[in-house]
Amino acid sequence: MLDLHVHLLGHRDREANRDNIRSFLGEALRKKLTRIGFADHDYYWHELNFDLIRETALEYPELEVRVGLEVDYREENEESIRRMIDQYDFDYIIGSVHEIKGWLFDYPEEEEEHRRRNPDQLYTDYFSLIEKAARSGLFDIIGHIDLVKLFGIRPYTDVRILAKPALEVIKQNGLVVEVNTNGRYKAVNEFYPDFNLIETIKQMDIAFTLGSDAHEFGNVGRDLFEAAKQLESAGVRTLTGFTRRIPDILPIKSQMDV
Ligand SMILES: [Zn+2]
Ligand SMILES: [Zn+2]
Repeated sequence: MLDLHVHLLGHRDREANRDNIRSFLGEALRKKLTRIGFADHDYYWHELNFDLIRETALEYPELEVRVGLEVDYREENEESIRRMIDQYDFDYIIGSVHEIKGWLFDYPEEEEEHRRRNPDQLYTDYFSLIEKAARSGLFDIIGHIDLVKLFGIRPYTDVRILAKPALEVIKQNGLVVEVNTNGRYKAVNEFYPDFNLIETIKQMDIAFTLGSDAHEFGNVGRDLFEAAKQLESAGVRTLTGFTRRIPDILPIKSQMDV
């Protein structure tokens, strides 16, 4: 079992020091994970300490520790993102869309604005950014692929149709989609992506990985065995991890037996 989406710093709630790294790694062991990947938000870049994660990982030989980054995708920033991620030898980069044309749509106080908008347009705008992120060549994993649903507002059109163009580009460019369990703790109360979308993604032969999006150590690995079960019932048999940005394939089944 692996969790490739944890935030050591949370929302800048703590420092990237050795004790905090140990709290996350200890929790990963308690949750029976075999691999954990840190993917803090890129806008905390100057407070991150990637080498210290690799150094502290040596105290946990039974755990595969990976160093990634969750990058906010904005189309006008592609070049600066490229320069940023080239500065470190990351294991993987998660590309996430948290902003539509300057609107940070996933803040709790933005629900009203979500309700003001035409839901089909909202989803179309969101997925067109996911499509561009996938086309940019910057990322290995697409984070919480249907985040735009967080307040539980649904489009009139089937989300599988609205997501299709983005999924085509994800497929063409060999990106991996995470099942991110954090959506269960938002108003929408389900994983990103939902089961129907998981099935569509599986039918397109796109690979999956798992992430809890834990912003505190207690949430490391949260609900991931259940997410793995959902993937299994959709016919998915493997998960994809990354080492120095090279994908490695892990069976789901054996991890469930841990
Ligand atoms: Zn995110
Ligand atoms: Zn995140």
